[in-house]
Amino acid sequence: MTELYDLHCHSTASDGTLSPTDLVLRASQQGVTSLALTDHDTLAGLPEAQLCALEKGMRIIPGIELSTNWQNKCFHVVGLGIDPAYGALVEATTELQITRLERAEKIAMKLEKKNIPGALEAVKKVAGEGMITRTHFANFLMSQNHVSTQQEAFDRYLAKGKSAYVSTSWAELEVAINWITEAGGVAVLAHPLRYKLTANWMKRLLTEFKAMGGQGIEVITSRMNADEIRQAADYATRFDLLGSVGSDFHHTTNPYVELGRLAPLPTHIKPVWELLS
Ligand code: AMP
Ligand code: MN
Ligand code: MN
Ligand code: MN
Repeated sequence: MTELYDLHCHSTASDGTLSPTDLVLRASQQGVTSLALTDHDTLAGLPEAQLCALEKGMRIIPGIELSTNWQNKCFHVVGLGIDPAYGALVEATTELQITRLERAEKIAMKLEKKNIPGALEAVKKVAGEGMITRTHFANFLMSQNHVSTQQEAFDRYLAKGKSAYVSTSWAELEVAINWITEAGGVAVLAHPLRYKLTANWMKRLLTEFKAMGGQGIEVITSRMNADEIRQAADYATRFDLLGSVGSDFHHTTNPYVELGRLAPLPTHIKPVWELLS
């Protein structure tokens, strides 16, 4: 059987639209053999995903996508192969849920000042026990016809510098990397080209990321062209990082993003799954 890895995706435990069970079923249909569920700042979806994967004969790699701060910017770090019962990580997710709720209250207040009431109740209802994210607010703004796409919701209200943006203190990058490595996992810099950093900043980030114990970088994510793949692979080589592949799948309505539908990792890149026993 050919192995097919997808090491980055989201369920209803954060801002995905599929339950962990439905996510695993879809991944299995797509031929994925090893799936890492990496919800934003939470481990809550993992038990259900594990249970379903067991029935399907699929492998779940326990994961998380941590929001982090470095140099006053926000970076996402995927933790792969973590022990979901590791105390410090579990405690961190409990605190992050409160951080996210408090941020949601502030975002809702800003929207209310823009004559858009009811956001907090709406996002809380949809998120349920899961993490509240800006995606929830984007969907609320769409449902109320304030915007017609998620992108427009970010561009007009939710992105940095826009009227409902709330800056948040996430875990410092080094602290997040430590949680992951102490939990037995591998820290991987998520979607490196999405931060729009200059070459110089990228060099600083990856040098420090590596020095802090980071071991991997996403070389393949959805919607990358050949040039972008070359660029990400080049970062992996230059900074001696293992390459990861992940769709960052959130929902079924985006035709460009599908579980397991990913370009192959360039053959000269050492795959991160060599560390995932
Ligand atoms: P949060 O972690 O709550 O700040 O939300 C971040 C999530 O919002 C990301 O993981 C994406 O799923 C989504 N997101 C961020 N920027 C955009 C954008 N420009 N368009 C659509 N979704 C976005
Ligand atoms: Mn997301
Ligand atoms: Mn991300
Ligand atoms: Mn993600």
